[in-house]
Amino acid sequence: MTTPTRRSLISLIVLLLAAFVPAWGQEIRHEIHFPDLPGLITLKCDLHMHTVFSDGQVWPTVRVTEAWRQGFDAISITDHIEYQPFKDDIPTNHERPYQLAKGGADARGLILIKGTEITRDTPPGHFNAIFLDDINPLDTPEFLDAIERSNQQGAFVFWNHQAWQGEEKGSWMDVHTTMFENKWFHGMEVCNGGSYYPTAHRWCLEKNLTMLGTSDIHAPDLRLRSAPDDHRTITLIFARERTAESIKEALFAGRTVVWFQDQLIGKQEHLEPLFHAAVRIELPIIRSGKTAWLRVRNAWDVDVQLTRTGDVGPGSIKLPARATTLVRVTTAEPDSPLDLRYVATNLLIAPETGLPVVLKVEGSD
Ligand SMILES: [Zn+2]
Ligand SMILES: [Zn+2]
Repeated sequence: MTTPTRRSLISLIVLLLAAFVPAWGQEIRHEIHFPDLPGLITLKCDLHMHTVFSDGQVWPTVRVTEAWRQGFDAISITDHIEYQPFKDDIPTNHERPYQLAKGGADARGLILIKGTEITRDTPPGHFNAIFLDDINPLDTPEFLDAIERSNQQGAFVFWNHQAWQGEEKGSWMDVHTTMFENKWFHGMEVCNGGSYYPTAHRWCLEKNLTMLGTSDIHAPDLRLRSAPDDHRTITLIFARERTAESIKEALFAGRTVVWFQDQLIGKQEHLEPLFHAAVRIELPIIRSGKTAWLRVRNAWDVDVQLTRTGDVGPGSIKLPARATTLVRVTTAEPDSPLDLRYVATNLLIAPETGLPVVLKVEGSD
């Protein structure tokens, strides 16, 4: 009797250990690579996601471990106020996701921003309010009351997935004008999950609204790391410091770029310095006869697609992420300085408009 009992006891202990090792063993974070801008820190942020407290499929702490593991700096859990399909199992408590996630976020140095999704039929649609003190006052029948109360708390408010029910339903209505004129909403999702909204993109440029990209994730995110060809849609935020307060200041100032699939979407004033911080020609330049060999280093997590607009250089160049590409340039005057003029077709400064870039090559004398 003794031996089998002891054996089952040992098996039980081994099983328990296996179950708890991740809790006190190792957790690994894989960094996302984007350079900083002069005087600013590039923070990788996902400001729209759900848990079982609305229609998501995970407990709030899971959102923290996923985000930290995949290299994010800040997240906001934004459960729907008005839509809780699991409320028979999980009682309505708008503050609870933040409370449950906060300890794990603090332990990992992940910035957790208190937020929610104000959820009305389209139009007017869904709006996220983040940097809230208290979500409860937003649980009110009138849509504009909820928006106004968000603003009374100093929240940053943005319009989610503008055309998710079609362009017609995503039209700009009087209610949006009222909000816009009162400065009650401050940004729009240009990208949500796998969708890109060119109309939202255009409105952000025309009306000086902040561009956001978010995952709006509901299911567990099983990725171990973010990769150039497999990552969440997120917002790069150019903040003065690595704090929630600085993120808020940067959002109100519009200092963002969206990372969506193999594209970056943002204002030229941010994309251009970000590109030049990431993509550099290594020195010295090797020249031979009428040929110059350029080693072009691409240090960020985006493959860059270049199409020539000037007279020098190959017709198109692909610079894979976090790699160096040898580019051969033939010219009648190989010793003179060269300006390689291209458009980066997957770095969008407006719908269907790539970022113009000039790769400057020094002369040899
Ligand atoms: Zn929504
Ligand atoms: Zn949502």
